[in-house]
Amino acid sequence: MSNRLSPSTGSMLLTLCPRCLSFYREHPDEYQIKRISPWDGPKSSCTKCNWFGYDYLIVEKERP
Ligand SMILES: [Zn+2]
Repeated sequence: MSNRLSPSTGSMLLTLCPRCLSFYREHPDEYQIKRISPWDGPKSSCTKCNWFGYDYLIVEKERP
């Protein structure tokens, strides 16, 4: 399998609003973003700022 997602890779389940999500989007070399919530899913509170957000799995990419 080419999927290298392993327990040793840092990953975190976060609820992120668009503003906080943009931080990870701006660092595609460092983070891989997988959306958990469906696009029309319920909104939750952002983990970082308590604004509305959706659930994402943020995977830290391995550094060379
Ligand atoms: Zn936020």
